[in-house]
Amino acid sequence: MSLKTVYDADNIFAKIIKGVIPCVKIAETGDTLAFMDVFPQSEGHCLVVHKNIQATNLLDINADDLTVLMNAVQRIAAGVNDGLEPDGIRIAQFNGAPAGQTVFHLHFHIIPVYEGRALASHASGGPADTAILEPTAAKIRAAL
Ligand code: AMP
Repeated sequence: MSLKTVYDADNIFAKIIKGVIPCVKIAETGDTLAFMDVFPQSEGHCLVVHKNIQATNLLDINADDLTVLMNAVQRIAAGVNDGLEPDGIRIAQFNGAPAGQTVFHLHFHIIPVYEGRALASHASGGPADTAILEPTAAKIRAAL
């Protein structure tokens, strides 16, 4: 799973995009999907993907498609800001397993940071219940 990893059309985010695996959705356009991270590092941790590009990492996407994706990242981050009022927002993106990437479909993390509350570790612990994630997603959705 290096930077040279070939895109696997059956990766978990590809399955989410196809609707084969469920997610707690925040917003969807023809090109992008934002959904809650099921192993959240903080309340409101969510992910944004391009639905139509088979990019394993940042090096696999052209500038126009990346612009579409980044516009979605900014829009969802604004919704996180307005809906959850965190003290900071971290945008993260990992390329290759040695860099911490665990799902090999290009995605951006939006991680709200709250003063005095430590972030959980990356992609660890047990999955959060939909019942926990959905009310937070609803707050973000309402702020978009
Ligand atoms: P990365 O390690 O940057 O590839 O990030 C992958 C992220 O996907 C991690 O933060 C995981 O918690 C998250 N994740 C893994 N499986 C799922 C899933 N089924 N639904 C939502 N998020 C997921």
